[in-house]
Amino acid sequence: MEVFEKHESQVRGYIRSFPVVFDKAIGAELFDEDGNRFIDFFAGAGTLNYGHNPEAAVEASIKYLQDRRIAHGLDKATVAKKTFIEVFVKYILEPRGYDYKMQFTGPTGTNCTEAAMKLARQVKGRANIVAFTNGYHGHTMGALAVTGNEAYRDASYGSRGAVSFMPFDGFLGDDIDTIHVFRRFLEDHGSGMETPAAVIVETVQGEGGINVASTDWLQRLAALCKEFDILLIIDDIQVGNGRTGKFFSFEEAGIEPDMVCLSKSIGGGNPMALLLMKPEADVWSPGEHTGTFRGNSMAFVAATELIQQYWADDKLTAEVARKSVIMLEALDGLRDEFPALNCKVRGRGLVLGIETPVAGFSDKVAARAFEKRLVCETCGADSQVNKLFVALNIEDELLHEGLALFREAFREVAQETL
Ligand SMILES: *Cc1c(COP(=O)(O)O)cnc(C)c1O
Repeated sequence: MEVFEKHESQVRGYIRSFPVVFDKAIGAELFDEDGNRFIDFFAGAGTLNYGHNPEAAVEASIKYLQDRRIAHGLDKATVAKKTFIEVFVKYILEPRGYDYKMQFTGPTGTNCTEAAMKLARQVKGRANIVAFTNGYHGHTMGALAVTGNEAYRDASYGSRGAVSFMPFDGFLGDDIDTIHVFRRFLEDHGSGMETPAAVIVETVQGEGGINVASTDWLQRLAALCKEFDILLIIDDIQVGNGRTGKFFSFEEAGIEPDMVCLSKSIGGGNPMALLLMKPEADVWSPGEHTGTFRGNSMAFVAATELIQQYWADDKLTAEVARKSVIMLEALDGLRDEFPALNCKVRGRGLVLGIETPVAGFSDKVAARAFEKRLVCETCGADSQVNKLFVALNIEDELLHEGLALFREAFREVAQETL
């Protein structure tokens, strides 16, 4: 740890929650430099849906490098990119009847949300973007402007203009329909809200506390956007790539967003971001949103393998549903075991968490879990939710072992608290 404390900036984050030096990783297991084994219930915050170093991707990547195929190509045409595009169309877009064009932005999620907002503003010739309470969209200036957590909103972050926040589904309690609130702001010309070019929304807020938008809410949001000529951007960076079961998190709602942001798991652990847009929204001029690492060849190679392996049929979707039941049973059990803690179990598919409205509780549980060699994190504006993200293809044995460790950690902290 000394070398990091001496030389790495104070900005370092997760290294503080998980103070060991990691070395090897395979599937849902991590090993530190001394060979200690950890179970991964974090999955790179949704980057490792297929686990660490998925075999098919590793083999294809080694071969690609060995043959000295092109590693860096800016956004030139390469065989790696062509093959990825063909596979993505064949296995993801065509079976769903989606007609999207693809933009490979710089390889981070925030670059993708940034591009989506920039493009939406151009399409509609309007500045305002509507974001939702507790949304999370990244850390560049534009993306920060639509991120809700007050920790990221003080004056030092600069201008956050041209963004209006609206309440997410359930934000105002069960009795208030937040789509109706949004409608009032749009239809009353005295509301003070400029008609937005777009809304940007997550179907499940992964960083914001595992808040799930209902199917009905998403359908009515999509209809409202159509009615008022507003583009709908779904940020599927964290909960896409099968995290909720289907490839896209909005499929069940039957909506077709104007733009979709994908990153995190799309490259199988490699940096990659992909913006999907309806053809009519593709008003870019050549090179208008650029970046040196647009289209990362190694990510294309890995993504091509993984999409063919996992998305040729519905098996992974069924796995997610089956494992979701196992995990929910464990979390519901903890909630019922300690009614005095007023816990709430949240999520859908394998985006799951347990909220405990006792200050500091969830952080203590995550720290205790780490002592037991289970890696998991917290989320929500007050770190009030223990977030459990497993690789979608985790072996049942590891899933049960990890859940047992989490239960132990939770019980110990609960007993100390109550
Ligand atoms: C992680 C995340 C981002 C930002 O992606 P980075 O790669 O960290 O820039 C944006 N939106 C959502 C929903 C995310 O989970």
